[in-house]
Amino acid sequence: MTNGTSRREFLGTLAAFSLFPLEQEKPELILYNGNILTVSDKEPRAQAVAISRDRFLAVGIDSDVLNLASASVRKVDLGGKTVTPGFIDAHSHPAEAGLMHLRMVDCDLRSISAIQAALRERASKTPAGEWILGFKYDDTKTEEGRPLTVADLDAAVPDHPVHIQHRGGHTTYSNSLAFRKAGIDEKTLDPPGGKIDRDPATGKPSGRVAESANALFEKAIPQNFTRDDHREGVKLISKMMARTGITSATEAQGSPTDLRAYQDARDSGDLLHRAYCFINFHYLDAMIAAGNRTGLGDDWVRVGAVKLVCDGSISERTARLSTPYEGRPNDFGILVMTEEELYMHGRKAHLAGWQIGTHANGDVGIDTTLRVYERLQKESPRRDPRFRLEHCTLINDGLIARMKALGAIPTPFSTYVYYHGEKMRYYGVDRLNHMFALRSFLDAGIRATQASDYPPGEFIPMMALQSEVTRTDTKGNVWGPAQRITVEEAIRVGTINGAYASYEENLKGSIEVGKLADLVVLGRDPLKENPSTLVNIPVERTMAGGRWTYES
Ligand SMILES: [Zn+2]
Repeated sequence: MTNGTSRREFLGTLAAFSLFPLEQEKPELILYNGNILTVSDKEPRAQAVAISRDRFLAVGIDSDVLNLASASVRKVDLGGKTVTPGFIDAHSHPAEAGLMHLRMVDCDLRSISAIQAALRERASKTPAGEWILGFKYDDTKTEEGRPLTVADLDAAVPDHPVHIQHRGGHTTYSNSLAFRKAGIDEKTLDPPGGKIDRDPATGKPSGRVAESANALFEKAIPQNFTRDDHREGVKLISKMMARTGITSATEAQGSPTDLRAYQDARDSGDLLHRAYCFINFHYLDAMIAAGNRTGLGDDWVRVGAVKLVCDGSISERTARLSTPYEGRPNDFGILVMTEEELYMHGRKAHLAGWQIGTHANGDVGIDTTLRVYERLQKESPRRDPRFRLEHCTLINDGLIARMKALGAIPTPFSTYVYYHGEKMRYYGVDRLNHMFALRSFLDAGIRATQASDYPPGEFIPMMALQSEVTRTDTKGNVWGPAQRITVEEAIRVGTINGAYASYEENLKGSIEVGKLADLVVLGRDPLKENPSTLVNIPVERTMAGGRWTYES
């Protein structure tokens, strides 16, 4: 025990509230008259906090905290509003999403005609011949009940090449000019691991291409993002996240360019959330050679885990399962890397002191990944490696026991049940009781996190709460009720557990003296809210490091 800790505890007992052990330190800001859910076991509730620079200096009842006020302190009356720690999105793709929002048409719309109108509008402001790019299109969410066709896109925009990414990220939809520019016609063969959908009568591309066939477009579309564009992208997404109550997010598939973009945004004052930047394994050698490893950085931008990928996706039904998908008796999904490849990359990272985060959705993907982690830890034991299973969607009792033994951290999709309910039927009622398995994780003492995977999933923390607590989609269908958790548990999952997943549980994730002043002021108390309206709770203000990053 350090001196600081003992003094803090002594003061805490004496004054029935906590005070940071720096006597000279005076608060600059006091928030009082609040209903503060601290997520601290020592003091679960408080009324007021005092903040000095970027940290909580005191947390307690109004009279004690207000007592610290000097003449110059700013005082904010919270009017009884509920405050939680800032939310931590433990797996998303903000830097990439920011660039998309900067350049592309957001196709998260509910009809093909609305998508056509949005594309037409963008085309009217774009010189003819230049690419019109779209993203977040979801064929299961448009009222026509059929996917976009080349004819739909030609009708909307004939004179610009149009290329739209599906929300899941593995399929795209294009118009005739885009196919011409990509050099694809009726004579083009499907590339290995890819598919070009065709009109059965003419053999011409019908609009949709899947997986590796997308590379033909990637070659044709100019990649002309400047360093400033990358910074602007981070600025944009950071603003979007802050207004929902997010104060930290993991960049789950980052690169050195993303790392630079975060630093540039921080330097220009535009970074409103803290970034834990995973590094794609392609860059691992270069990062190790430069002397970098997990944890390097500061409270705003930090090098995260190395990212590996084991199997496919949930939303596009390619996760590797031990039993086939509903209605598709021969389809078990896919493995992206072999176990030996995972081991080779993992070993290099493990020996160099890196945390490892492996994308593993299906039970077979999780089993394979755990076997690699178990082998690494057996051959070269490391204290506290905090192996991560990104998504970790479909589990069973055996997998849970092995995760617990290893101390592994799952980052299950938090908003899928609510937002992507229409895709849940492919997994079946029984399987859903073992998917996004927060009840099983928490009961086993496994520290699962909140994670959006944005763009594929929504990142709104209040939506995550509703999804996790009700296991109900927007149409009222219930998926996997056995995995419901309480609102209080969901808040912990979205805060302190996220901090633990990046080795920062002593720095953030709860409202405690000495921690970073990251918090959210909510319009209503989630503990008193009807669970089916949690998503409607307004975020009034968000604070990161003692600074308001969003005010309604
Ligand atoms: Zn992801």
